[in-house]
Amino acid sequence: MYRFRGAEPSNVERFEAEFGGRSLALANNYRSGAPVVRAFQAFARGMSTGSRAPSDWLPERGELGSVSLTVAPSVAGEAAAIRDRVLELSRQGIALSDQVVLARSHLTLARVTSVLEQLGVPLLYLGDLFERDEIRDLLSLLSVDAERGGLGLLRVGQLPEYAAPEPDILKFIGWCTSNETEYIASLQRVAEVEGLSEAGREGLERLGCHLAGFTVGTSPWTMLTIWLFERSDYLRPFVEANDAKSRQKLIAVYQLLKVCGEFVAIGETNRRKFLDRVRRIEALNEDTAYRAVSSEATDLDAVRVMTIHGSKGLEFKAVHLPAIATRYMPSTPKGNRCPPPESLAHLGIESEDHEAEEECLFFVALSRARDHLSLSRAERYTTQTASPSRYLNTLSRFVPQQSSPDVSIETAHLEDRPPSPRKAYQERELAIFDRCALRYRYEIVHGLAGARDSTAYVRFHGCVHQTIDWLEQQCAAGTPADEAAALAHLAALWAETGPRHGFERYYRQSAEQMVRTMARVIAGETGEYDLAEWSVELDGKVITFTPDRVVIAPGGDVRIQRIRTGRKIKSEADSPIYALIRRSAAARYAGRRVSMETFYPATGECVPVGAPKNDAKALKSYTDAIRDIELGRFPPTTDTRYCPTCPCYFICGI
Ligand code: SF4
Repeated sequence: MYRFRGAEPSNVERFEAEFGGRSLALANNYRSGAPVVRAFQAFARGMSTGSRAPSDWLPERGELGSVSLTVAPSVAGEAAAIRDRVLELSRQGIALSDQVVLARSHLTLARVTSVLEQLGVPLLYLGDLFERDEIRDLLSLLSVDAERGGLGLLRVGQLPEYAAPEPDILKFIGWCTSNETEYIASLQRVAEVEGLSEAGREGLERLGCHLAGFTVGTSPWTMLTIWLFERSDYLRPFVEANDAKSRQKLIAVYQLLKVCGEFVAIGETNRRKFLDRVRRIEALNEDTAYRAVSSEATDLDAVRVMTIHGSKGLEFKAVHLPAIATRYMPSTPKGNRCPPPESLAHLGIESEDHEAEEECLFFVALSRARDHLSLSRAERYTTQTASPSRYLNTLSRFVPQQSSPDVSIETAHLEDRPPSPRKAYQERELAIFDRCALRYRYEIVHGLAGARDSTAYVRFHGCVHQTIDWLEQQCAAGTPADEAAALAHLAALWAETGPRHGFERYYRQSAEQMVRTMARVIAGETGEYDLAEWSVELDGKVITFTPDRVVIAPGGDVRIQRIRTGRKIKSEADSPIYALIRRSAAARYAGRRVSMETFYPATGECVPVGAPKNDAKALKSYTDAIRDIELGRFPPTTDTRYCPTCPCYFICGI
């Protein structure tokens, strides 16, 4: 039961042989009522590690409590069934704080609790702290003048107490950007900005009063505490409402202040660094420590929420156990991204260890219940259907099953005004849309592109690409550069725009390697380069792009290269840009022999791009994107790895 990485049941089993001990079975169960004991006992008999469990546990507390299984069409229906059961048990006298929602993973907990929270169930759980609306409001506030571009103002300016219309805020941001002034200081000069509406001017001036005196150097702690407790009315509605949802928000704000206080306590005062830290925590999925409610709030009468791992050693009068479905319980083995070194190979988790560990976890979950155990599953969690967990096979004799209806949960709808139709679109803009339509809206429609300082990785790539362009220009001008000149050019670019980072040395080594390779390749080329911008007309719209490299050999053959400074990926040739290049090249170089390849300067590998799989479909993705843009359709595409690196991460959702 207490199997976990490195703690092997065999260590206990060897005890008898090594120390001459004797095994005694604990045959009485003092925790749970008989229905719960029967359920976990039935499961234990089928466990691969269960052979040593006694065949019968005697439930000392007798016939009390219940076990049930509810099946709902969707996660919303499942959460609604949990809400109903929680309230029913509460009416029977079981306090909310004596009830717990347990799940195998934080992902499941986040899915279920986000609906429970909307349904008004008081929970002692915050989900992903940094993606909560009220926390994003505060992080947006901290980002003003800390991250470039003033993006945070777009969210903060629309808070109810400022209510500045979005076009006014965008106008103000544009004014600051073109005047190269700091955003907070400029809020004192709102009167100078022409064309603002009355509401916009008033809202921004009020925000200016609340932020007066803050500068780039103001620490996150100072800015948050003064704004929250001395100047703004942000917390008032939550305090006055005093309902479960508002208390949850207050706890989340408190939690953020704690995170912020810890940051300041180690001597850091830089807001930009604080926000970078938040982004890193999210990108590395290290936020689980912030999901649980801090100990100061644990006296609240609210349902406890935790992972099964976290529940070991605890017990509750009522346990709600959602997502007992294939892929969720047991979880699918993920492979070992970080295998232990050879000398510690015994710590590695083999697939049979994973199975045994999952069984033990399920046993732990079942046996946390003192009186009531409510299992549930949905028939669909994402777009895929989810079949019942095989763990339910052994329980079905003891657990009555019931169905629960679906419910619809309102999701926030972003009101989008379609932008004015355009004749031409740049391919790189459409690539942003393809990645996330909402990001396109912020960056391209609202003109907030490039607001965040480039990451070290982006700067490194920029230096390499610019050096390659320079090498080609030198060739075209008849003054080809050698490796040494290429490296000198790279060094000059690096000094100006290269990454300033703990791993700068490694970035630089890699950049020099790529530049050397490209210098050798270009030195061996004859003919000329096509450096022009290309365009393709699709359904009456023009898409423009500049291919990375187009080499025209003296005999007229055309070689088009796409340079990838990252690592090689299998699906590279499926990228729709190859279809665009093919279509454009066919018109531009009709009758010539045209070849296309992907070049990886990090390794010097050149991969020919094979015959097209489905160019019509690839090109349609561009026309579909343009259609959606002109209809004002900008749904977010959330991705736990990608979003934290997005410049719009903190304002996302407004
Ligand atoms: S944070 Fe994610 S969902 Fe939001 S705009 Fe950026 S990429 Fe899109």
